[in-house]
Amino acid sequence: LQGEAERMERLSLVGQMAASITHEIRNPMAVIRGFIQLMRERSPENQRDYFRIVMDELDRANGIINDFLSMAQTRLSERAPVSLHELVAELLPLLMADANMRGLQVELELAGEMPLLMLNAKEIKQLILNLCRNGMEAMEQQKGTLRIRTLVTAADIELQVADEGHGIPPDRLERLFEPFFTTKTQGTGLGLAMCLGIAERHGGTIRVESEPGVGTTFTVRFDRTAGG
Ligand code: ADP
Ligand code: MG
Repeated sequence: LQGEAERMERLSLVGQMAASITHEIRNPMAVIRGFIQLMRERSPENQRDYFRIVMDELDRANGIINDFLSMAQTRLSERAPVSLHELVAELLPLLMADANMRGLQVELELAGEMPLLMLNAKEIKQLILNLCRNGMEAMEQQKGTLRIRTLVTAADIELQVADEGHGIPPDRLERLFEPFFTTKTQGTGLGLAMCLGIAERHGGTIRVESEPGVGTTFTVRFDRTAGG
């Protein structure tokens, strides 16, 4: 009976997700359709702008589909013993390039020793990358440092991504992890929903502390026995 209840819940979740993704993809499609119509009717001067808008909206639709797929994916994700430090090191070149382009700094504050955890490396890298991207986007048009920290205690292991960005108003905090919640014009709102899904599949948690105008810290917490 309990299995049945779970199945129903999962089904209705899939139904909800299908409804939201349909809605989200229809928005860019409506914009694309409108601008293609304009391109047919109007003089050629504006065509460059129209092309750009159409391309941007196509990219947006594509981004929504990609994020949605990775979020829906991997109930049976494969895990292997891996060090969080190894994953951070693998991501670092990408993060540094991204930060450089935005005129930002990246600093690591890593624990002296990092025990191995049973993790799906691909998913955890995706999680770290999403948090770092959000942190950098919050520091857009300003100087700042993104800090990646690890903390190891007897009971658990924490990974923090801290930015010096615009912060998050308290009334917005509880909506952050909702699929499709975004305050960005080009956002999909799926990044944090995906992060939460990944952390939970690993038996972990995510918490967020933020001070508007000062910055935001996301903390991902794993049990020392994560996944195993
Ligand atoms: P997206 O980045 O596509 O908007 P996310 O799910 O990654 O979607 O984030 C949802 C929202 O949470 C963002 O639009 C932003 O308002 C807020 N947010 C996430 N991370 C941060 C951060 N580090 N600083 C400030 N706001 C953030
Ligand atoms: Mg994001």
